[in-house]
Amino acid sequence: MKVAYWETKGKINMVDRKIPDLKPGEVMVRVTSSGLCGTDLHICHGETPHASPQVTIGHEFAGYVESIHPETKTTLTTGQLVSIDPNCPCHACTFCRNKKYHLCPNLSCIGVSVNGGMAKYVAVPASAAYAVPSTVGPELASLAEPLSCVIHAVDMGSIKSGDNVLIMGAGPIGLMTLGLCSTGGASVTMVEPSEMRRGKAKEFGAAKAIHPDELKLGDPCMGWGYDVVFECVGRPETMGTAVNCAKAGGTVVWVGVAKPDVTIPVSPFDVYRRELTIKSTYTNPFGMERAVKILGEGKVNWKALISHTFTLDEFDKAWEVFTSGTGLKVCVRPSLD
Ligand SMILES: [Zn+2]
Ligand SMILES: [Zn+2]
Repeated sequence: MKVAYWETKGKINMVDRKIPDLKPGEVMVRVTSSGLCGTDLHICHGETPHASPQVTIGHEFAGYVESIHPETKTTLTTGQLVSIDPNCPCHACTFCRNKKYHLCPNLSCIGVSVNGGMAKYVAVPASAAYAVPSTVGPELASLAEPLSCVIHAVDMGSIKSGDNVLIMGAGPIGLMTLGLCSTGGASVTMVEPSEMRRGKAKEFGAAKAIHPDELKLGDPCMGWGYDVVFECVGRPETMGTAVNCAKAGGTVVWVGVAKPDVTIPVSPFDVYRRELTIKSTYTNPFGMERAVKILGEGKVNWKALISHTFTLDEFDKAWEVFTSGTGLKVCVRPSLD
């Protein structure tokens, strides 16, 4: 079978690989949709912890259970549509024993450190596969993983109804954050340079969607600013601006992934004076079950996040569109139904 494979820094190639053998504890998934995300770009450039070259990429995927190893204990049945949690912790380290699975130093990550879902078939631990409600289709189900990361981020923001929230960046992650915050009763302002993405933000319930040039900073100590600011870009400028936009007593959540060597100037006096809480968010602990449930409820038109769909044979084209940043979520469909 053809797979999208990370071989050397800076390049993802289409290569031929044999269908994997199933091991005890695993199920075989026939992949129906596999999303591309910023992490794939970081992987490709060798900037992701746990990433190992010589791996099939694809960590945001869904598909049908094709077969189950006879020694696998699971309630799943063949033919079940499942979304995959790519993060598989060791369950033995101090972090796992304290329910901080996402911080496990021995984390095995499907599509990052072990072969992932940019292929027609992938063998995954049964514990990583989440049954998807029948209201969620085989393409939409691949949004469960990014949504699970956003659930964790929104939890970190401890949003309350009526909060004024600022979200920087209306890419798929920013728009998902918006979807969850606005259905949770917050009033959201979205900052985004792209007109197309600002339009999407309005569709997703933003009270305002403004260009970064329209963001005029006031005096946070005199009551200006936002209760919670989510930075969903990962650039040093926006990470700094996010801190400046929080109201005194507010919370900043850095959701975007910065390059590993980036530093930004933050004034400790300013953080002290405004009693800010600055949080980061890493992966998706305990988010997958909630994500498939939220997709199934359909309170937000999540499907509108998928701007492009390609077959696996068209992977190079998918990668080109994805890296151009002109779309939103770019999905590859190794198997169409
Ligand atoms: Zn991702
Ligand atoms: Zn562990």
